Amino acid sequence: MSSLSSPSSPSSPKRAFASDGDQGRPSKQQKLDKRDVPAHFKGLKKDEADGLEKIETFRGLKRSFVASYPGQDAESYSRRAKNVKLDEANEDEISRAAKTSNQSNVAMAAKETVSRLRVDLARMPASAQRGMANFTGVLCYRISLLQALLHLPLLVGWLWDWHLPENCVADQPEECFSCVLRLLALSYWRAPGHSGDQLPKVFKAMHKTLKSLGWAEEGQADPDEQLLFFFKAQRQELPSSVYSLVEAIFQSFWTQKIACSCGHQSVTPGTESKLTVCLAPRIPKGSLADYVKRCFSEVVPYRCDGCNITADRLKVREFNHTGDVLCIQLSQLDNFGRKINWVVPIPSLLDLTSLRHATNDDASLLYELTAIVQHTGQNGNGHYVCSAAGPDGQWQLFNDKLVSKSGVANVVRGFVPVLLFFRRKK
Ligand SMILES: [Zn+2]
Ligand SMILES: [Zn+2]
Repeated sequence: MSSLSSPSSPSSPKRAFASDGDQGRPSKQQKLDKRDVPAHFKGLKKDEADGLEKIETFRGLKRSFVASYPGQDAESYSRRAKNVKLDEANEDEISRAAKTSNQSNVAMAAKETVSRLRVDLARMPASAQRGMANFTGVLCYRISLLQALLHLPLLVGWLWDWHLPENCVADQPEECFSCVLRLLALSYWRAPGHSGDQLPKVFKAMHKTLKSLGWAEEGQADPDEQLLFFFKAQRQELPSSVYSLVEAIFQSFWTQKIACSCGHQSVTPGTESKLTVCLAPRIPKGSLADYVKRCFSEVVPYRCDGCNITADRLKVREFNHTGDVLCIQLSQLDNFGRKINWVVPIPSLLDLTSLRHATNDDASLLYELTAIVQHTGQNGNGHYVCSAAGPDGQWQLFNDKLVSKSGVANVVRGFVPVLLFFRRKK
């Protein structure tokens, strides 16, 4: 389970926010009703009123925090409050635009953003690839995820060139996840001025940082939840202009359409940095592309806004834009929560052209596989490894500290692929 949604320690101040803070806290969707507009909101423009509403929210949070945890010091409170505040106030421009405006404009902005990143394979010498020590015994999920991320040249470029230490705004640099991830990438790839021997030390420092940010370590965790936690930490600690760069690498936008027999059509925009593809029910001889397509075109119960009738309707999603990196999580559970017992073959190329929206002008929707995070065993006590394409094109299998040559897109016998990373084929 992720500490993102359910921090474990009962004394954790974060939990105090999650449970107590929710009471009396206006939801983001909740519009200010005329009757309960506080006096000092009157006569303000909407933006200004929203800002004040946020401040009111934090005051409410602080009151409930102090009431529930009188022993907690103010510093601990202010750190948490700052995170909550940043979380709400720092909502990324692209995400916000995606919810409110034209998907093709948003896609254009994302493309423009990602074009500012530099891909330089010379920075990633194959001789530098190596394993990482699983020093607590349960970090294989994190090591596997990091190996996959460190093999994404766009992300490495972002870490290299952006969020330089002098630009960091964290009160305590050791609490900045982006800083420690950057150091990890620079030590891993033996960047000039960075000793590769520092890697184990930096990996341990990252462990502390993640703990201080609220990632509770209770044995084995899931790499997909860890990835979302990474994104969340970065969204909180980085200025929007810098976070939007890393977000644009992964983010895809689509338009979802549901047509009713009355003629009414519901059209909703959507966006995601990680696509979840359900493997159940099984598609006989189905390829990964078949499962992705099914996920983008399925029959769902739908209540029509036009005629108010609820019926099964076809929901179709089409990509307005896909991220240069596509992260696909393969959901291994069926509708009853049982683990499925088949493995979908992983292709080295994935073609999403048939899911292209009419307004999509991405150069290509053809993707090549760069990494597979794979799992064996039961949830909670299995083992994760990662196979990834090196900068020289050679696939390697990363098993904690061990590295061995691997075949292209190879899934180890007895393992199932859980997280796939593709990059756009130019
Ligand atoms: Zn930083
Ligand atoms: Zn209808």
